Amino acid sequence: MLKAFKYRLYPTKPQTGDLERTLELCRQLYNSALQERRDTYRRAGQRVTFSQQSCYLPQIREELSEYKKVHSQVLQDVLHRVDRAFQGFFRRVKRGQKPGYPRFKGKRRYDSFTFPQAGANYGVKIQDGGKRVFLFGIGSVKLKLHRPLEGQIKTATVKREGDHWYIVFVCEVEPKPLPENNRAVGIDLGTNPHFLVTSDGEKVEAPRYYQKTQEKLAKVQRSLSRKKKGSNRYRKAKLRLAKLHRKIANQRKDFHHKLARKLVNTYGTIVHEDLNILALSRTPVAKGVHDAGWAEFLKILAYKAAEAGRRVIAVDPRYTSQDCPVCGRRERRPLWVREYTCPSCGTPLHRDVAAAQNILAKAWAEPSGKVSLRSPGL
Ligand SMILES: [Zn+2]
Repeated sequence: MLKAFKYRLYPTKPQTGDLERTLELCRQLYNSALQERRDTYRRAGQRVTFSQQSCYLPQIREELSEYKKVHSQVLQDVLHRVDRAFQGFFRRVKRGQKPGYPRFKGKRRYDSFTFPQAGANYGVKIQDGGKRVFLFGIGSVKLKLHRPLEGQIKTATVKREGDHWYIVFVCEVEPKPLPENNRAVGIDLGTNPHFLVTSDGEKVEAPRYYQKTQEKLAKVQRSLSRKKKGSNRYRKAKLRLAKLHRKIANQRKDFHHKLARKLVNTYGTIVHEDLNILALSRTPVAKGVHDAGWAEFLKILAYKAAEAGRRVIAVDPRYTSQDCPVCGRRERRPLWVREYTCPSCGTPLHRDVAAAQNILAKAWAEPSGKVSLRSPGL
């Protein structure tokens, strides 16, 4: 299975210049390849293929010498990206969806380039026991390997995020099954302040530091809105805002990883709500600010579970927050009612814990419950 490892790069000033230049060359190649496809499609209704376009690469590198400083496979990967954008476009046309024609990438809108194979011959190589990485056309760049790299490197992508640079290695790793475990748990993706609640009654909140950064974010956002657009102070506040956004994203990711790790270590089977059905069925106010985070969290959970040989099941979430898990009585209650006693069987219940128990029960009741084993995105 594939696993991604992301590390911070510390390029020198001249190296940063070379990285920026590489991105710009890739962006220009992307846009001209897109242009060619658009023109041909408009004029003749015909498709240009990846192999037709990649034939030009040697010629481009011959005539535009700056392209010699970019590895040929990196350039091929750019053409692959154009190809994927078009395949997506044609797929949407075929399905009758709103197609959304592939777009040109503006300046600062092209933020990464990929070495599709790793190794010295392919333009990227780890050096000095992981303290540096050699990148074709850039040189030997300082690297912080904050956790060890595992498995066989398949691809390496260099990314710009704000004013930071990262490298993401996608590696082929062996799954590491944990010992068998018969414990099963249902999780309810919680309403505030809970991130999730388990059928065992555990209530997990987002960590304090994360909530604190979010409060800070709101403050910076307010102060930005008071500053004059285009002024020096506005620009500074904007930079601070971008930095905070990145910090929050990292903290959230860290929280997701730790929580997923804990669940996978504790339970052999984990049952959650199917987010696609949830999105269709619930009222917009029902679940608050965590929405965006759940999909991300479930992806990490599915991935860690697959790696450990655990089962993750997604079930239809309808009525899970209304039914009594003991006697099955269905009743709609206002959102603010968190704890109540079932009027039919007298069981004292907590709404979210009851929902989590119903979710768990559904996995056994609906054997068709979809087992989600997705591979991770980057
Ligand atoms: Zn009951």
